Amino acid sequence: MPTIKKLAVIGDPIAHSLSPKLQNFLIRYFALPFAYEALHIRQNELPAMMQRLRDEEFRGINITIPHKQAVLPFLDVIDETAAQIGAVNTIVVENGKLNGYNTDAAGFLRSLKAAGIEVADQRAFVLGAGGAARAVIFALLQAHIGRIWICNRNPDRAGAIRTAFIVFADAERLQNVSWADRAIWLKKHEVNLIINTTRVGMHPNEDESPLSHEAFSNQLAAVDLVYNPSQTAFLCAASSAGTKVVSGLGMLIYQGVAALELWSKQVLDICNIYANLESELKAALH
Ligand code: NAP
Repeated sequence: MPTIKKLAVIGDPIAHSLSPKLQNFLIRYFALPFAYEALHIRQNELPAMMQRLRDEEFRGINITIPHKQAVLPFLDVIDETAAQIGAVNTIVVENGKLNGYNTDAAGFLRSLKAAGIEVADQRAFVLGAGGAARAVIFALLQAHIGRIWICNRNPDRAGAIRTAFIVFADAERLQNVSWADRAIWLKKHEVNLIINTTRVGMHPNEDESPLSHEAFSNQLAAVDLVYNPSQTAFLCAASSAGTKVVSGLGMLIYQGVAALELWSKQVLDICNIYANLESELKAALH
């Protein structure tokens, strides 16, 4: 029998995290020698948690809100993607050294690919400019998106993302749009992908949407990073206008698979279990 190594997700709050359900499902299916738990870690407890990693109590961890940036100074190596996004959601422990990765960007792209959406040369409208938006915008640029418009309630944060990522794109490919003008702007411009990376519509505010159905017109797809509920008001508005929709559950699942691939050093094909896994996660939502 191989020794069971511990894995965990740390955050504050953490009680509602779906990661233990997701990871333990995958661990069982692939018969991996891991056990995954959720740990409530406050800011002042981070140094002690990082020492537990160095002591090799864990094979690795996932990091969620609010620690994705705060863990950076504790790491020995930061993967290039994570460094460019400026946030780490996965740590792998190798001989007492802490290696940081960001699997959100890969998870986002894998979820689009699974939905049959090609990103290259498309025109994307991204709502939001928080941590998730940074991973999404980095992923879109890596996948050769044609153009991106970033629209955030706080314009300074949208401007800061544009400044951070302009090195990967020429100025024309990355633009900001004012939050107040978003619906009217969409009426006047051709956009293929509309992506919600804001928290709007998240449980318990299920009735809210950053766009009403009038804003949608023949786009290729609408993607919502919010996964609780799995069918958000934003996706319902897009769907009622005839736009294909992609739920945030896909990104959640694929970022988790990418993390487990890093810990297990195996390629994990979830094609045959995706539907079961998705319905198990949906059943755990409010
Ligand atoms: P964050 O860094 O706190 O950013 C929150 C974003 O939401 C900001 O752009 C903020 O705008 C916007 N926002 C919040 N309330 C708003 C409101 N009432 N009206 C307009 N905009 C509002 O959070 P995050 O880490 O980026 O996460 C954002 C969402 O993505 C969450 O729902 C999270 O669960 C989801 N997510 C999903 C996955 C997945 O795997 N599916 C992965 C990561 C994140 P301001 O800057 O103006 O405050």
